[in-house]
Amino acid sequence: MVKKVLIIGGGIGGLSTAIALRRAGIATDLIEIKSEWKVYHVGIIVQGNFIRAMAALGIADKAVAKGFPYFGVKFQTLHGHTVAEIPGIPMAGPNYPTDLGMGRPALHQILSETALELGTNVRLGVTFTDIQQNENSVTVAFTDGTTGEYDLVVGADGVHSKVRSRIFGDEHQPRFSGQGVWRYNVKRPAEVDYAFLCVGLEGGKCGFIPLSHETGYVMLVQPDAGDLQFPADQLADIFRERMAAATGVMAAMRDQITDSSLVIYRPMEHLLMPVPWHRGRVLLIGDAAHTTTPHFGQGAAQAVEDGVVLGELLQRDAPLPQLLDEFMQRRFERCKFIVEGSLQLGEWEMNPVPEADAPGLTKKMIGMMAQPL
Ligand SMILES: Cc1cc2nc3c(=O)[nH]c(=O)nc-3n(C[C@H](O)[C@H](O)[C@H](O)COP(=O)(O)OP(=O)(O)OC[C@H]3O[C@@H](n4cnc5c(N)ncnc54)[C@H](O)[C@@H]3O)c2cc1C
Repeated sequence: MVKKVLIIGGGIGGLSTAIALRRAGIATDLIEIKSEWKVYHVGIIVQGNFIRAMAALGIADKAVAKGFPYFGVKFQTLHGHTVAEIPGIPMAGPNYPTDLGMGRPALHQILSETALELGTNVRLGVTFTDIQQNENSVTVAFTDGTTGEYDLVVGADGVHSKVRSRIFGDEHQPRFSGQGVWRYNVKRPAEVDYAFLCVGLEGGKCGFIPLSHETGYVMLVQPDAGDLQFPADQLADIFRERMAAATGVMAAMRDQITDSSLVIYRPMEHLLMPVPWHRGRVLLIGDAAHTTTPHFGQGAAQAVEDGVVLGELLQRDAPLPQLLDEFMQRRFERCKFIVEGSLQLGEWEMNPVPEADAPGLTKKMIGMMAQPL
């Protein structure tokens, strides 16, 4: 039976796994390379399956209280005319919303405080220098000069995972999708208590996600060269210019984008590790195994679901290879659908075709995510 686990990476997936394992009574060490455990200030969109996974971890009420609950998403023109509405599904039960906008710092606070309260042994500013395994255990050497022995090591160190390189070699690298995403926090107009995406912007889209009673964020997706360096002091001007065609509410939000130092720009990357995501006693989860572009707003939910499923499985007294195979059966197709579907949405934005149906694919995704884990 698995009694002691090391998690490498203290982000959304690593912390969710720590919570799930501690609730299952498993001794859990977590190392995080950053010595200051901070996340950037913009927000994250999550849907019913994220809230359901938070409920499994016992923290759904905290997450809903810290976020902005809403129900479904609207597709609009750049001038505010609604073209489609996708209702959400209350996957966590009737007492919970179908969708939630959250600031990343708020989510990080809930996850890190809960993981610590439950007794996760967290070390910041530490990573691994070596991982050696045999049939019965894994020995890990750390940058602080210590070593540890574990039944299982979970690589939750994100899109540019060093655990992945160490265990699977360098052949699996994330690829640029052809688009970048721009984000900026703005004041939320009281009447805009829902999320909307504006279609009709060449090569991408823009939209708004509520984050709290006071704020929300504007997002803009545009095609770019992956290695493009925008002048740091012109980010706000470029962001606004690219949304010049918008009118009405979207334009009023756009005009709040004035401080380049508060613009967050990220090129979009994707990666799907082939089955299995484990070698021996080392398992990859979250972005390290499946990095999606953010078109569905599902990356965080998939990382949290990984943790929930692993926590459930490791409570069973069965051989580890069998449990890890079961983990793959429950996780691979779901994550594959998210990675591939998100890429399809981006492709339709960059190269429109008559059969493109973003609302239809989004609806299909919500239906699939509503299936039990
Ligand atoms: C632009 C953008 C927008 C997004 N928007 C959304 C959204 O709206 N909704 C959504 O659900 N998802 C969204 N995502 C995806 C989401 O952020 C990720 O899927 C999620 O953070 C994955 O969690 P993770 O724990 O696997 O990785 P991360 O959250 O990246 O955490 C990895 C952690 O590992 C640490 N680490 C890295 N290397 C090491 C090492 N060698 N040793 C120790 N620690 C290490 C890092 O410091 C970090 O704390 C978005 C992603 C991007 C890029």
